[in-house]
Amino acid sequence: MTTASEDIVCSLCGQDHVVRYRIKGTGDEFWMCPECESLWRPGADPRRSTEAYLSVYLEARGLDPADVELERVEG
Ligand SMILES: [Zn+2]
Repeated sequence: MTTASEDIVCSLCGQDHVVRYRIKGTGDEFWMCPECESLWRPGADPRRSTEAYLSVYLEARGLDPADVELERVEG
């Protein structure tokens, strides 16, 4: 069984697929391209362009990117 969210190629760099991640210890989830670190907030459509980036997103939430652990969300 596949879902519509699989195999979405990053619309910004076209080099990788958008993957769902969770910030370890917070429960925050988002979509991100591992190649260029473009980020889609929950509810955003990863098929569309985005202006968000991982480092900006984390800093806006008061998190230090160097201290943050991301884990992939399966399924
Ligand atoms: Zn990308």
